Amino acid sequence: MTRTTRPTAEAILAAMPELASHARDAVILHPERAEPDHWSSSIGGPLLWPSDEPWPECSLPDVNDDAGSPATAMVPVAQIFRRDVPGSWWPAGIDLLQILWCPNEHWDPPAPQADVSPVLEVRWRRAAAVLSPTTTPPPSPTRFDEDGYLPQACAITAERVTDFPFREELPAELRPRLEELVRETGDGGDVITRLAGWKLGGWPTWHLTHPMVFACDECGTAMTLMFTVASDDETGVVVGRWGDLRIFTCPADHRHGFQVDLH
Ligand SMILES: [Zn+2]
Ligand SMILES: [Zn+2]
Repeated sequence: MTRTTRPTAEAILAAMPELASHARDAVILHPERAEPDHWSSSIGGPLLWPSDEPWPECSLPDVNDDAGSPATAMVPVAQIFRRDVPGSWWPAGIDLLQILWCPNEHWDPPAPQADVSPVLEVRWRRAAAVLSPTTTPPPSPTRFDEDGYLPQACAITAERVTDFPFREELPAELRPRLEELVRETGDGGDVITRLAGWKLGGWPTWHLTHPMVFACDECGTAMTLMFTVASDDETGVVVGRWGDLRIFTCPADHRHGFQVDLH
């Protein structure tokens, strides 16, 4: 399925072969309102959660409560099964990715969270290890201030794409040619390095700030983009000023911490 209006990767590479060594696989996750179950990949849907594992809560100060009390239950943001979006971003032995967040605005939360943002939690699992999934609905958040942080339940359709880096992540000698190619392609926007939507893998865009490299806290490796949360009407999610929230992870070891960036 192709819904992104963009030349094919082959056409882009034919126009600029030097991009080949900078190409990355990605999957755009197209959301559609639905009633997904625990065993489905979803945005804002129920999670396959072990009944003996506590549901994540947030007790960080937020704009509603300086003390962050009482703790607020997090809400599901995305659940992705490997079978639906196979690719290089899956650590060995892992076949389920779950992302949750606290649906409050936190001005200045501690690292690795982004400022003025929900507070995230990421779980990597082996679905077969969830022997007794919980059947009770998760607790509702006790307070929240932004409807845009409460994703509507959606099924997802995966579209595989080849993603290319924002010009400033390329060697300097390649940037003018990429800029020219972007200008010549599409309808005035950048359809080559700024793919819209929820995305697994690929490259981050840096059209609003200078590119940043996040170094893994635990081993110093440069982190790579793992997941992009987009603002869109279908999920009702709004992050930043109709922006993207990105989760970077350590390519050396998925158990090393993540880093959140709001753009
Ligand atoms: Zn919170
Ligand atoms: Zn690391």
